[in-house]
Amino acid sequence: MARKPIIAGNWKMNMTKVEATALIEELKPLVVGAKCEVAICVPYTDIETAAALCKGTNIKVGAENVAWAEKGAFTGEISADMLLEAGAEYVIIGHSERRQYFGETNESVNKRLKTALAKGLKPIVCVGETLDQREKNRTKSVIRKQLVEGLADLTAEDVAKVVIAYEPVWAIGTGKTATSEQAEETIKFCRNVLAKIADRKTANKVRIQYGGSMNPKNVKELMAQKDIDGGLIGGASLKAVDFSQVVNYQD
Ligand code: PEP
Repeated sequence: MARKPIIAGNWKMNMTKVEATALIEELKPLVVGAKCEVAICVPYTDIETAAALCKGTNIKVGAENVAWAEKGAFTGEISADMLLEAGAEYVIIGHSERRQYFGETNESVNKRLKTALAKGLKPIVCVGETLDQREKNRTKSVIRKQLVEGLADLTAEDVAKVVIAYEPVWAIGTGKTATSEQAEETIKFCRNVLAKIADRKTANKVRIQYGGSMNPKNVKELMAQKDIDGGLIGGASLKAVDFSQVVNYQD
């Protein structure tokens, strides 16, 4: 079964509502004929605006995190119900910046993921090794642990609903991209781990993105790899023309 590629922007902590509006208005006509699925994951305060502007278009809107709890005394967190009410369809979970600066662990990723799935949000779960881990030949063991612990207790049906973003930490926001061979090798490895977590049929359904300085210049080669099913795009998603060129990589 063919997997429909998904190119998703990760705006991180960028774009006020005014800036978001201008970017989306510029982006809409540029991606109108896209053959892949298109999403933008935006700051919480932009979700409602983005959802209203993207209504009736082929651009889906997502958030950048979600609380594991349903509601209550969790200062600074945001619930799945709040995100859904604001118009989010996707949610990024376990981005390396959350792991690095905000103490996100495989266990907290797993809790957030279970809540997202239970509430009907579509999760994009990030995994990836640091430069130190790659140099010490630990890439596979790190990623296996992130996937096994992050996706613990999920049914095969739920595993199939998850989008995985393989993002080598050393390639995020650095301008350094993994070579297409490195990305394919690790993404293929992720798929093999998913086959062990669930089963081969399920693993073949899961879309696995590459993320890390993906841009209009390198997208074609990366997307030509057999197991790469899309991209999670940081820097290049903040400019409508650049993001649209990534989205329209098949043209
Ligand atoms: C990201 O933040 O997920 C990312 C891949 O960023 P960049 O494209 O800027 O490397």
